Amino acid sequence: MTATLITNIGELTTNVERGGDPTGVLRDAAVLIEGSRIVWVGASADAETHLLRRDAAPQTPSREGSDVSRSGSDVHRVDAGVNPSTPGGNPTPGETASVHRDSGYRPHSRGTDAVSREKGGAGTDVIDAGGRAVVPGFVDSHTHLVFGGDRADEFEARMTGTPYAAGGIRRTVAATRAASDEELRARLAGFVAELHGQGTTTFEVKTGYGLSVHDEARLARLAAEVTPEVTFLGAHVVPAEYSERRDEYVDLVVGDMLRACAPHSRWVDVFCERGAFTADESRRILAAGVAHGLLPRVHGNQLGPGDGVRLAVAAGAASVDHCTYLDDDDVAALAGSDTVATLLPGVEFSTRQPYPDARRLIDAGVTVALASDCNPGSSFTSSMPLMIALAVREMGMTPSEAVWAATAGGARALRRDDVGVIAPGRRADLVLLDAPTRVHLAYRPGVPLIDRVFKDGVALV
Ligand SMILES: [Zn+2]
Repeated sequence: MTATLITNIGELTTNVERGGDPTGVLRDAAVLIEGSRIVWVGASADAETHLLRRDAAPQTPSREGSDVSRSGSDVHRVDAGVNPSTPGGNPTPGETASVHRDSGYRPHSRGTDAVSREKGGAGTDVIDAGGRAVVPGFVDSHTHLVFGGDRADEFEARMTGTPYAAGGIRRTVAATRAASDEELRARLAGFVAELHGQGTTTFEVKTGYGLSVHDEARLARLAAEVTPEVTFLGAHVVPAEYSERRDEYVDLVVGDMLRACAPHSRWVDVFCERGAFTADESRRILAAGVAHGLLPRVHGNQLGPGDGVRLAVAAGAASVDHCTYLDDDDVAALAGSDTVATLLPGVEFSTRQPYPDARRLIDAGVTVALASDCNPGSSFTSSMPLMIALAVREMGMTPSEAVWAATAGGARALRRDDVGVIAPGRRADLVLLDAPTRVHLAYRPGVPLIDRVFKDGVALV
């Protein structure tokens, strides 16, 4: 099985709570990956010992951190080290790892090899992170990535004073219906590459630009080709052809459309907002989705106060997204629930609206996630580092809280426990930053800090 040891990590965000720190930061740390999973997390100083023990007696993955402090007395030591001057060379029999220990962060020139690499024992790749920070791969729990067309003109108009209205979605619906499967698939593949390049290793994709049985099923099927986290959002907006017959449209959503999309979907979502769907319609749509085996999530309280948050909590939704306009009852309902408040600051950035108050939610005990809401109308960015920067700059979150919300928080919003955390047994999804600390994600906004991205143990970037 392929193995990779990443060592000399200056700052490792594990998201395994440690000493009251929910992000469980380790300094001068190392991570061992086997196949698609993390098998060991510990101190760089212990990495060589661990690797030797593994080579001497291959073992099954240990539980979280359980062997970090174990004595090395059972180690079968082999003194021959790999010659660092031959990086990437195949190991010869009897060779084992020689792991560098050098805790200082070493900036490098972009375009040169970011980290040194060598072969350790038993074919283990050893990556010297050179003091860089490592965070879990970002989990973007809210995107709308299957669509045709572009609305740059609408953005330009809005930036000159035209307010955003949900009706703009209908333009994208027309362009999406006109696009072929191949066109949509190619566009989606481009977005997936864009996400990976920015450190996002888990992402959700919604339907919602088809709004007919045929087109919604098409979008769900295309989305399922790139992620298991597909959300049926037939209740995005009432399409133009049903504007005088909205009850008929809701009947269609909970009937034929849901039946066609459920096989490709994990989630059901509804845009509960003035101009979109009422509370009663939203409850009916979520209940129908749940009856078809889907899990509920909600778009709510984006454009003004409303029922979205409370109905999401009542429905046991994994997440209610936007949460820009909340009253005290909304906050109390969230705090007393398992429903995550997913904040989407790219929307407020792109629509020039007030940002949600993350500080108020966190202080009330609400679990907060950050996501991009990447879509062509109100937030055409897929950058989780930008969400982190906005959350810190505009929403009262600390860098630590924002990084947690963009990783473990996103995983909670998708009810996933295999991602968003760097710990033995979890998926080997992690990001090396070209920075000594994750604080740089907010401190250096707009700067490409993503150095290496691993998803399922495979280097994507
Ligand atoms: Zn959305």
